[in-house]
Formats: sequence, structure tokens, C-alpha cells
Amino acid sequence: MDSTPATDPDLLDKVINLAKRRGFIFQSAEIYGGFRSTYDYGPLGVNMLRNVKAAWWRAMVQMRQDVVGLDAAILGPPAVWAASGHLETFTDPLVDCRKCKERWREDKIDGVCPNCGATEFTEARAFNLMFKTQAGPVEGEGATAYLRPETAQGMFTNFNNVLSTIRKKPPFGIAQIGKSFRNEITPQNFVFRTREFEQMELEFFVPPAEAEQWYRYWIDQRYRWYLDLGIPADQLRLHEHAAADLSHYSRGTTDVEFAYPWGWDELEGIANRGDYDLTQHSNASGTKLEYFDQAANERYTPYVIEPAAGATRAMMAFLLAAYREDEVEGETRTVLRLDWRLAPYQVAVLPLSKKPELEGVSQQVLSLLQPHFACDYDVTQSIGRRYRRQDEVGTPFCITIDFDSLEDAAVTVRDRDSTAQERVAIDDLLAHLRARTNQS
Ligand code: ATP
Repeated sequence: MDSTPATDPDLLDKVINLAKRRGFIFQSAEIYGGFRSTYDYGPLGVNMLRNVKAAWWRAMVQMRQDVVGLDAAILGPPAVWAASGHLETFTDPLVDCRKCKERWREDKIDGVCPNCGATEFTEARAFNLMFKTQAGPVEGEGATAYLRPETAQGMFTNFNNVLSTIRKKPPFGIAQIGKSFRNEITPQNFVFRTREFEQMELEFFVPPAEAEQWYRYWIDQRYRWYLDLGIPADQLRLHEHAAADLSHYSRGTTDVEFAYPWGWDELEGIANRGDYDLTQHSNASGTKLEYFDQAANERYTPYVIEPAAGATRAMMAFLLAAYREDEVEGETRTVLRLDWRLAPYQVAVLPLSKKPELEGVSQQVLSLLQPHFACDYDVTQSIGRRYRRQDEVGTPFCITIDFDSLEDAAVTVRDRDSTAQERVAIDDLLAHLRARTNQS
């Protein structure tokens, strides 16, 4: 029986448990009792998170000639956040429960305190989500800095630097992956909403007349990215915001939503930001952020289409979508049906026994595959137990070296999803795995 994620009421707990038990995600500072809403990515988690980011970078930068990358500073001066509107408006409505005194984000609680069930709250007040700190040894005015709450502003403030150093003209984009920080009032649902998280954002600059067309184009591209990496179509949907709900800068926003265990919720937002950002920074800094179109002999402020995704949030969705419990040889197994590009290990090299005769050829197989695939090498426990351990962390291929391998120079390749096994000559192994992962 194949349990589908959407119907399992314990799915979230199972994934959180697996993530901890198998080294994907740990509670930060756990030996000190943990630090609320911060998480550390363990040996398998860091592999997977890097894979999520690499898949994004590949699709958004490497495979295109109209997008370039950037890695901007996390610390920024107040002037940037004044111009962007964050100092004024990057707030959530904060209320206190009159009974238990817990604080909540008003728009997330439907009028009932999730802690004690009371329905009486204080008036909502605007709570700014930015982390404020101080740069340098002197306190006070001039030393204030903020941790960025999104990566986007670095792309806007570097608009002229990028334009003058690369030969691009609108439509073109600047992409960035990096940490962002928001002092969320109610962080929740594991790594879905945390105070420190990673974002993957593209700012795509276009002639104003083409904005709508590019907005639709990016909605479609981003939706397909999740599908391509294995999220089933029935767990993905697009949600276009009504005009009345749009942020101050937005001329249109569409979310890619995922069917989380608690219901549909945001995975990524795609916004048509108009010329808001470049105009704000031009006015505030006194440096014109425009494009001069030589052919038309006209100067204009490009519009910006922004697909903004969370890397850590996407990783969580990929884990939830991949989690299955099925039956193999009369036993229930847990398997992560992760796309091979996202799996923490793509190949496990498993000598059948610890006998020294198998060591040489097993190491040879490892050396053959390791430059091309993320490999685990495991000689402990029975082979059946080792297969289950690899299934549970989503390793697509297990390579078993047995005593016949010493005679026929071949190994067994086991497929994670079907558990089918195939004998493959060591000489053909790399080509075999490349073919099965669609790499010629
Ligand atoms: P929300 O309304 O849920 O607070 P948002 O609409 O403000 O989120 P954006 O500013 O559009 O979110 O951020 C873009 C993406 O960054 C989100 O779709 C999400 O994937 C990710 N993200 C935003 N905030 C967090 C967070 N606190 N923890 C993890 N990921 C986040």
C-alpha cells in the first residue's frame, strides 16, 4: 500500500522525525535547550539544501543567457531600507492575547488564541520584522545596520554596477541566493517559517510594455520548476492575489502554493513590481538607475518581475512530497522518492560483507563514481538493513559488490523506487548510471 502525503495526518511529524534522526535538520543549539525557530542543516540536509539551490541556479542562471548572478552583503545601512519601504511598511500586525499574554500575528489566528483559546486581544500594532543591529564599535546614530529581510535590494542597488560590467539590456535579470532574516512574530511549522532562512530570488528587468508578458512567463517557468523536480501536479497550484491584497509595490502577485499537511500555503511568490524599486533608489540615492536604449534613443526605468522563492521552504516541500510508506517483501519501508538531483546521496556503494577481499573492488567502484555522484559508502549491518537506510534518505541507486564481483567484474544496481536489481559490468557502470539519470 502506497500512502500518499496528502492523506496522512501524521506526515509532518514523520518528516520532522526523519529529518532529525537521519541528519537532515537539527534544532539549533539543542544542547542548550534549542533556540526557537532556528535550525541547523546536518550532513544529509546540507547536501540536499545545496542540491535545491544548485537546481535553481542551473535553471535560472546557467541555462540562460539573459540572467547573471550576484552575491550581495547581508548587512545594510538604514538608507537602503528607508528607500525600499521596509523601515516604514515591512510590518506584521501584532496582538497580545488578553488572557495568556502570548503574542500573535493577527492575520494568522482567525480571532482565537492558539495557546489558550481566548478571543480577546489588544489592538493590533505594526511590528517591524527587520533585525536591527549595530555596525562598528560605536553605538548610536550612524552605526545602525539591518540584516536584510530579503535578498532583492542588493540586486536593485547594484543595477548600474551590473549593467556597466556585462553586456546585457532589458529584458535581463540578476539572480541571488542567500540568507535573509525576519523577526517573525509566530515562526511555525518546522522550517516553513523561520527567523533565519535562505531565499532564491530573481529580479528580471524588462521594458515596461513587456512587463505583463514576462510576469506570465515567469509564473509558468517557476511552476514547472517544481513539477520537473518531482512535486506532483495535484500538490501544486497557482494563486493570484486580488488587487486589494497587493503589497504597496506590486502591480500583480501570484503565489505558487503547495499542499502542505496543514493545507495550501505559499511556496514562492512571483510579483510584477513595476518601476517601484529602481525609482525609489534613484530618488533616495541621487543615482539614476535607468537604461538608455540606444536604438530608440530613449531613457527609461525598467519594470521588474520578481520570482522570490525560499530555499529552505522548498526543501521542506520536496521532503513532504517525497515521503512514502510502502511494502517491500512483506515489510513496511519508509522511502523518500526524491528526484536524483535533490537526493543527499545519489549512489550508495555497499560491499556485501566486511570481508577484506571485497574492500579493493568496492573502493575501486567508489573512486569511479565519486567524482560524478554524491556517494555514501556503508559496510555496516545486513544488506537488507542498509537498503532500508538508503531508501529512507532517498538514495536512488544502491550498488552492491558481492563475491561474484571478484569473478565477473560486475555489480548489482538496485533501484530505490521499484527495488528492482540489475547486474551491470563495472566497466559500464558510470555510463549506466548516467543514462538512468538522463545524462549523456
Ligand atoms: P508571508 O506572507 O508568508 O510572511 P511573504 O509573502 O512575505 O511571506 P515573500 O516576502 O514573498 O514572503 O518571500 C518570498 C519567499 O521567501 C516565500 O515564498 C518563502 O518561500 C520564503 N520565505 C519568506 N519568509 C520566510 C520565512 N520566515 N521562513 C522561510 N521562508 C520564508
